[in-house]
Amino acid sequence: MSMTLEKILQSQGFGSRKFCRNLVLGHRVEIAGKICTDPDRKLETDDLAFRVDGETWEYREKLYLVLNKPAGYECSRQPQHHPSVFALLPEPFVQRGLQCVGRLDQDTTGLLLLTDDGHFIHQYTSPRKKVPKIYTVTGVSPFEATQLEKLVTGVQLKDEKTLTSALACQLIDEYRLRLSITEGKYHQVKRMIAAAGNRVETLHRSAIGGFTLEETLLPGHWRFLNENDLKRLS
Ligand code: URA
Repeated sequence: MSMTLEKILQSQGFGSRKFCRNLVLGHRVEIAGKICTDPDRKLETDDLAFRVDGETWEYREKLYLVLNKPAGYECSRQPQHHPSVFALLPEPFVQRGLQCVGRLDQDTTGLLLLTDDGHFIHQYTSPRKKVPKIYTVTGVSPFEATQLEKLVTGVQLKDEKTLTSALACQLIDEYRLRLSITEGKYHQVKRMIAAAGNRVETLHRSAIGGFTLEETLLPGHWRFLNENDLKRLS
């Protein structure tokens, strides 16, 4: 696609059209190693890299990111009690309307997807799509066989008309379970564990669909999803 430099910068989250125009006029934008002072210059967006104030960016029509969420961060743009996960991401990404694909509680860690693609968000958050999300749950007390049974056959959560059940539930050790669920009800895992007769000590999301968070992505770090990741997710 061909676009003017000013529009490219705006689409990538660098500010209003006027602000982006002034960035270019202010000699702050480089294309192919040369300062470009023409905001109306038309550029091909495929494989386009550019620099703003010396920092390199690549043009992306849509953003797809994975963040290893640390504990103590809220998945909200207007956090109430803790910093926002958006503070862990580059400012232009936040400006261009990145959203969490399903929220995690502030004390939950692990796999968080973020995108500005509304269709993608719907695909992974709609309960009808039944995408499994896998959590490692540490209980306050050791897990009992009857608790695991209840989680799979279904537990009654307050304000829910039908029983809520896990797709699968496996004991890792006395205190830890691997639990997979397909919906994303409010505090769903914590409420299910409480209804089964235990309490969550820690909660970590390790996978969504066929996509597993790699251990090399450290807490607080993010990366772009690649074609392979997107295939695994679908
Ligand atoms: N279930 C919860 O209770 N909390 C989360 O953060 C995610 C799933």
